[in-house]
Amino acid sequence: MTDPLAGVPAEVTIVEVGPRDGLQNEAAILPVEARVALVRDLAGAGLRCIEAGAFVRADLVPAMAGTDAVLAGLGGLEGVRLPVLVPNPRGLQAAIEAGAREVALFAAASETFSQRNGGAGIDTTLARLREVAGTATAAGLGLRGYVSCVAGCPFEGEVALEAVVRVTRALVESGCAEVSLGDTIGAGTPRRIAQVVGACAEAVGIGRLAIHAHDTMGQALANVLTALEMGVATVDASVAGLGGCPFAPGAAGNLATEDLVYMLDGMGVRHGVDLDRLIRAGEGALAGLGHAGHSRAATGRRRARPAG
Ligand code: MG
Repeated sequence: MTDPLAGVPAEVTIVEVGPRDGLQNEAAILPVEARVALVRDLAGAGLRCIEAGAFVRADLVPAMAGTDAVLAGLGGLEGVRLPVLVPNPRGLQAAIEAGAREVALFAAASETFSQRNGGAGIDTTLARLREVAGTATAAGLGLRGYVSCVAGCPFEGEVALEAVVRVTRALVESGCAEVSLGDTIGAGTPRRIAQVVGACAEAVGIGRLAIHAHDTMGQALANVLTALEMGVATVDASVAGLGGCPFAPGAAGNLATEDLVYMLDGMGVRHGVDLDRLIRAGEGALAGLGHAGHSRAATGRRRARPAG
């Protein structure tokens, strides 16, 4: 019998988004020292790409205030990519001044989401993004792109595949080495993800794609596995599932990194992360946030641990 999982890469890069995508959607705010400790703990667990923060307006996203101090606190952390999110030229300038080496840019595949979340339509956003990307590239920074709403929009419902492809292509043409396809509301199921990944791979090549799945409807791992089977070798995840779902209070949001690591371990896919150290890193953050995590694997391991 041929291996039905033959397409899954032997090695996968996990992009840990908890310290940014996770924390910015939490009700409680972690102080800079705790954010530095979290990133260091995650690096200690073996993660080699950790989204460390965002240069956004502190009045709009207070959880990301002090990202410059977080980067300063991470000085000396070698061999780890620390992308930071920037929405505009001002954010980019602040990131450069803080010593960032890589920035993440974002655009939505849904017009309404783009207007409501970013304050501008898709075309305006892409034009702005080209400008930011050009400056970042000239400054020698690495570039990562995000497309949100690839499998549905909280305002519009269905999102056209062509819109996802158009935004993905624009991000690559702007200079993004990698584009992360985000199922922002976790609405996608494997068929849709296969269509999105297939269409985007045709446009920019499978090697440039990452998958960013949300577990709102319990589909995250199934969707990630679908992308892996198609050859996607970069997966975003958030330790302890930090962040929840901003569009469905109380629901799960980001795929928990622990759950991803458990699956990859079981499949023999290399990724370099130690599950138990990762769980401890997540527990540290959860202690500061004051709530339980969303990782099934972490909960399962905890039950299996001897008491005391
Ligand atoms: Mg997310």
